[in-house]
Amino acid sequence: MTVAHVTGAARGIGQAIATRLAEDGHDVAVSDLPSMAEALEETRSKLESTGVRAIALTGDVSDHDSVRALVTDTATQLGSLDVMVANAGIAQTKALLDVTPEEFDKVLAVNSRGAFLCYTEAARQMIDQGTGGKIIGAASIAAHKGFPLLGVYCSSKFALRALTQAAAQEWAPHKITVNAYCPGIVDTTMWEEIDHDLGEINHMGKGESMKAMAAGITLGRVSTGDDVAKLVSFLAGPDSDYITGQSILVDGGMIFV
Ligand code: NAD
Repeated sequence: MTVAHVTGAARGIGQAIATRLAEDGHDVAVSDLPSMAEALEETRSKLESTGVRAIALTGDVSDHDSVRALVTDTATQLGSLDVMVANAGIAQTKALLDVTPEEFDKVLAVNSRGAFLCYTEAARQMIDQGTGGKIIGAASIAAHKGFPLLGVYCSSKFALRALTQAAAQEWAPHKITVNAYCPGIVDTTMWEEIDHDLGEINHMGKGESMKAMAAGITLGRVSTGDDVAKLVSFLAGPDSDYITGQSILVDGGMIFV
């Protein structure tokens, strides 16, 4: 039995990933911000109903003490940490000339520093355990291509892709693989917010910005969290043992690298 931790799991892609990992038979720790505790508990209780052990922890991934506690509490309460999914992230939709340095720092703090803290604290725990592990990050199509009005978000996800490559090489001797998943447009609260903000900037109505972006999807539909969870299930399991340092697109064919 392996133990997985999924950050940002109270809703959206993180919730779908946690559900899939529980269905795969992993014991699962889910975490999110303290303000999301109620939704997080609902996720935890659904996971438990699949027959695995599930715990809910709160913490901010941009805060070092928080992440240390998330990792330690998972290992203490569930026995180990074998799979870390650094999923939590925030978006920002703004023209670069309108972004303040403080806003830049906020996005990088959650998406890049947060991934750095989750990767390194998980790696320390896995190295202590001596049995290897799987570290998985939430990148994006925005980790492969810079998009207008999403410049800071893209910067934060490019950073995560670089971190994934470097970490994979540093921790391979410890039998830890490090990979990232790169969704395109997933119909979650995050995209509702992006659609709203793009609509304000471009004078488009609700849903129109998402529709315009979705027109470029080869498979003809936006993604669900489950589409992404299938890739993470693979990256968390033994069938991906010979894959490391990769940031894999799961975007229905939006960009081609
Ligand atoms: P979401 O906004 O629906 O959910 C994100 C979750 O992360 C929320 O529950 C939120 O409370 C939590 N979170 C935010 N800041 C946090 C922090 N500092 N500490 C702990 N938890 C925090 O977003 P989503 O669409 O489910 O996205 C999940 C991940 O996938 C993100 O990293 C996002 O950048 C990435 N992603 C999403 C899409 C998409 O189209 N939705 C596409 C590519 C990548």
